[in-house]
Amino acid sequence: MNFCFYCGEVLTKKNETLEHIIPNGIGGKLTSKKLLCKNCNNVFSKYDADLCENLRFCTNFLNPKRRGKNPSIKMQFDGIPLIREADGEYYSEDIIKIEPERKGVVISYKGMFSSDEKHKQLKKQKILNVCRGQIKKLNIPVDEEEKIINEFADKFEKSIIDIKNPCMGFRTQFNEKSFYSSLKVVLEFYLNNNFDIAFVNEKINFLKELKFKEMRDCTNYFYPKDFYSTDSIYHTIFLKGDNKNKLLFACISFYGTLNLIISLNTNYIGEDFEKSYCYDLRNHVEKQHSKSITLTQSDMQNILKERGIHNKDIEKAFNAFIPFFQEREFNADKFMKISENSFKSLMSKNFIDDPISYTNQIKALLFKSLKEDDEYKCMLDENLERLINMFLAYKTYDVYIENCAPYFISNIFSSILAEEITKNPNILKDRETLSKVVCAQFCETKTNNQSINIYLKRNRHNLEDKYREFINQNDDLFIRFQQLLKIT
Ligand SMILES: [Zn+2]
Repeated sequence: MNFCFYCGEVLTKKNETLEHIIPNGIGGKLTSKKLLCKNCNNVFSKYDADLCENLRFCTNFLNPKRRGKNPSIKMQFDGIPLIREADGEYYSEDIIKIEPERKGVVISYKGMFSSDEKHKQLKKQKILNVCRGQIKKLNIPVDEEEKIINEFADKFEKSIIDIKNPCMGFRTQFNEKSFYSSLKVVLEFYLNNNFDIAFVNEKINFLKELKFKEMRDCTNYFYPKDFYSTDSIYHTIFLKGDNKNKLLFACISFYGTLNLIISLNTNYIGEDFEKSYCYDLRNHVEKQHSKSITLTQSDMQNILKERGIHNKDIEKAFNAFIPFFQEREFNADKFMKISENSFKSLMSKNFIDDPISYTNQIKALLFKSLKEDDEYKCMLDENLERLINMFLAYKTYDVYIENCAPYFISNIFSSILAEEITKNPNILKDRETLSKVVCAQFCETKTNNQSINIYLKRNRHNLEDKYREFINQNDDLFIRFQQLLKIT
């Protein structure tokens, strides 16, 4: 049986409600029916709205999948006010000037819009309508009218200036209003994982009794170094019960920009545990979050005490957020460099003797390297995969074999050499005999690997020549073998 954690009522089919643990308004996907009753769910909507308002800038940039529609935001470009819609498209107010001239009027237009066709057409139609209205006043014949309109439309198209990566100014501010909803997120995550409610009762009361001061005192901005992944944009919750340090706390990150710590219990005597949730908002998948944090009581006290010093951290977090929305030139040279390095590093590892694990290994390696690159990490996973597949189309397993086989085969050759000498030391009588016996044996060699066998078959003569030459020219080795033979 489940109870509403807010009012304690038993949850039934009738009063249950699907609660978004992270608010839907910021693209939260984690839901549960065992947390709140219908009535209490409504209590929180005002506070969720505060959190969403704090994060509206990020939400509008990213436009995460969610139910309903999100409002637009105001921005600036070069002093021109812009409206940015939730789908990422933006446009400015139009500045249309109509000035009388000797023979008629001059119509001038200034405006901005994002590079989608929709906004361009909207602007174009608007300015052409203004144009039509002016023509009507001038008593111009109808057949001339269309001509003028077309000329104007043509001028409009030609005068569009393409600005790559327009740098838009914005103002966004986090305030402590977001703490309430954040505490709720963390408590719901805790309870949804069936941890003991007794350890968080005090905090549930903070919510019920709207103890804002107390809530503020147990919450703060918190930007631990290298803790949250920055290779995409995530909502992350990290929950920790630490019996030794008697701490129960949560670290939470929205979009990687609003990062908080919430102390849930400073006299925690429950079991040790860590529980994380991490959702990749660009690739729409849950990701593993494996990083951990350990804090002592005094760490916690210090973290909660530090007020008003987080601007630099927040700025840094935004600097990691924004690049995901900037268009980039595809840097083929850089991609080749990264991919060749991955290929090389794979070759330095253990020999891979089947095509499927070759493909898997190179994919994983290359994916990881690209995710560590500041530019490539901004690409969507599916686009990265497409690139990697392109690379694999010509760095096939056969290419890998071509590169690796010589080392692999020289190992085979060495073992044949050792084996034959052990079997019959007399073959060391002279180099001629040695190379004859060993090369004959080498000709018979077959491995378990089909690709290597094909390679062997194709290159057998060359390889034989190479090894014969090796035996004939390597005096030191031959003499050492002979000495060894005398000893044994
Ligand atoms: Zn309730």
